[in-house]
Parts: sequence; C-alpha cells; structure tokens
Amino acid sequence: MLELTDRLRRIKPSASSMAGQRVRELRAAGRDVIGLTAGEPDFETPLHIRQAAWAAMNAGQTRYTDVGGAEPLRHAVAEKFRRENGLDYELSEIIVSAGAKQIIFNALMCTVQQGDEVIVPAPYWVSYPDITRFAGGRPVFVPCPPDNGFKLRPQDLEQALCARTRWLILNSPNNPSGATYTRAELLALAEVLERYPQVWVLADDIYEHLTYDDAAFVTLAQAAPSFKERTLTVNGVSKAYAMTGWRIGYAGAPAPLIRAMVTLQSQSTSGANAVAQAAAIAALDGPQDFIATNKALLQARRDRVVAALGKIDGIACQAPAGAFYVLASCAALMGARTPQGALIRCGDDWTDWLLDAQGLAVLQGSAYGVDSHFRLSFATSSAQLDEGCRRIAAAAAALT
Ligand code: PLP
Repeated sequence: MLELTDRLRRIKPSASSMAGQRVRELRAAGRDVIGLTAGEPDFETPLHIRQAAWAAMNAGQTRYTDVGGAEPLRHAVAEKFRRENGLDYELSEIIVSAGAKQIIFNALMCTVQQGDEVIVPAPYWVSYPDITRFAGGRPVFVPCPPDNGFKLRPQDLEQALCARTRWLILNSPNNPSGATYTRAELLALAEVLERYPQVWVLADDIYEHLTYDDAAFVTLAQAAPSFKERTLTVNGVSKAYAMTGWRIGYAGAPAPLIRAMVTLQSQSTSGANAVAQAAAIAALDGPQDFIATNKALLQARRDRVVAALGKIDGIACQAPAGAFYVLASCAALMGARTPQGALIRCGDDWTDWLLDAQGLAVLQGSAYGVDSHFRLSFATSSAQLDEGCRRIAAAAAALT
C-alpha cells in the first residue's frame, strides 16, 4: 500500500491545472467542448525570444546554471526592476526559478512554520492556500467582496493580523478578479502593516503588464520603499511574454531570504532550465512594443465578454482592471432548477451544469474562495468568447 505523507494530504490538485486537463480529456472523448479555463495567453512566444533560445542551444548553453539563476539573467532582472519598478536589487537579492509558482513555493517553504498564519485576501489564486498548508501554515482568508472592488481594505487587514502572522499575500492585478491596487490603496495597507514588523509581504506581480483603461501598475516596495526590507517582489515571463511553458519566474527580496530559497532550490530542481533562461533574457532586454499590442487586443476581448455577460439574466460582472479573467457572479441563479429538476445550490452546480448542458468549461468560484461566482479567461479568440457567452446565455435561460 502506498503511504502518503500528512503534508501531502493537506493539499489538492490545482483546480486551474486540472480544468485544462479535463477539457482535453472530454475533447479526446469526442465532446464538443469550449474551454475558457486557460491561465495563459493564446499568443505565440515572440520570434526574437524563440530565436534567442535556439542561439543559446547552439552556443552550448545547455548545462547547469547557477542554482539561483544564470548571472546574465539576474542582471536582466535587476535592470527590469530598476527600469520598470524603480527598485534597486543587487544580484544577491534576486532569484530565478521554474515559474513564479516555484518562487512562491520556495518562499513559503523556507519561512512558514507549523501553525504560522498567511493572510490570503479572497478571491485568491488557487495555489496560495495549498502551498501555505503544505508548508505547515494556516491560510487566513479575508473576504474582499465585489462592492470593495474585490480589494483588501485596511480595516479588514487589521482584523486579520496577529502575532502568528508571517505573510500577507498581495496579488495585483489579481487572479481571478483583475482587481488592481492603486498607490494610495497600497500605502493605506502599508500603514497598517507598519504596526506588525514581523509580517512580510509577498507581492505577486505576475500580471504587471496587463492593466486596462487608466489602471496603472504599482508594486508595494515601490509605493512604500521602507517595505523593501520585508517584501518578496515576485514576477515572471509567463503572462506578458506568452511564455507559460518555458517556466521562468523571478523575484527580488533581501539577501537572507533569497539565500534560503536558493538552498531549497539546490535540493529540489537545481534551478531553472538553461535554454529558457537565455530566452527570458531576450524577453526582458528585447523589444517590449508587442506587449501594448497584445494588451489592446485583450482589452477589446474583455469589453466584448463583459458586454455579452451583461445581457444575460442572472449573471453579473464588473470589467476587470487587469489580468485576463472575468469573475462573474451567478448568485441570482442559486435556487433555480435544470429542466431535469436538479437544484442549482452553489456555484459548483452552475459550472457543472454549464459543462454538462452546453459543453462549456469555466472555473468554479469556490476554487478561488468566492462561491456563487465563476471565472472565465478571455485570453482566447473572439470567436471562442462569443460562442462561450452564447452557451452561458443558453444554460442560464434553460433554468427555471
Ligand atoms: N501567480 C498568479 C496570480 C498566477 O495566476 C499564476 C499562474 O497562473 C502564477 C503566479 C504562476 O505563474 P508561473 O507560470 O510563472 O509559474
């Protein structure tokens, strides 16, 4: 009999990773399924980045790199932080890992002790609570309802903080809500945290480049420079550079934390893929103009989806300020029945019904800490989005 560890039993498979797999399985079984679950842009990785990988391979950059990231990439990351965020990090204050996810995993595994608390504003990215649990900690969820724009308010943060709090996780723009914090909002949170010097902030900036309308991106250590000494500024190339499969994330933080994370990484992956690291240098140092082009396209898709959902009885949503997801409420459909008489009791019932009746895969809000909501990704073609919204309308209209 296979004996699994207690720590493994505390976690479940990532809902977003599993959803994509489910769509592929259903398609393979011959079902006409539309998947609006993907947490990745449908754009190709730009040519100059792919060419840099090819050149690196041919130049023999196919061996182990420094565990914490090849020095030229850490230089490019330092330069990126200086140029785009006004943050000065030494090379010893930078780590490169196999995606932002591994950065977050490393950081929490290195710093969270049994029973420590990690504040996770809800809605949240699915992996924060489970990585916290795996590390032995306790996620403390702070509800951030739609009428707060899905954002953490200082008074709610104050309520959640205590002597056991080790981290606050701040994800802006947020997955799944798109909520994007302004400088003033970050400063108001920092003011509360001033009174809790033992608390560190994990700023997950992976959607930095994907903000819409007049939303401007600011990261915490930039808004409140004194917090740089207790902030892990996390970023990566997955989303803005359409490089999810290359698996390169990076972070800046005080050297003792980075050293600890590198130690852990030396006993797990030995560092990120060498060729992908060369490609990431080309991404960070190369032309950035395609980001604005992609962003304009994403904004048009966002507007299309928000307009279509707005016409559906029982569905409500706000236009997200960033990232590429719409977090829509299906609360008005709770208590309705399918033509077969099944009761829609919760958001999961609604998303199951969408898949069963219409072959539309979206993510259930419960995975993100917001039941009676669902998340759909608009990082796909307009044709798929139109058809997806048509299926949502048909599924809602069939309920009585
Ligand atoms: N953080 C958030 C909020 C995300 O949505 C994701 C991916 O979906 C990640 C981190 C992980 O990104 P990466 O591909 O760099 O591991």
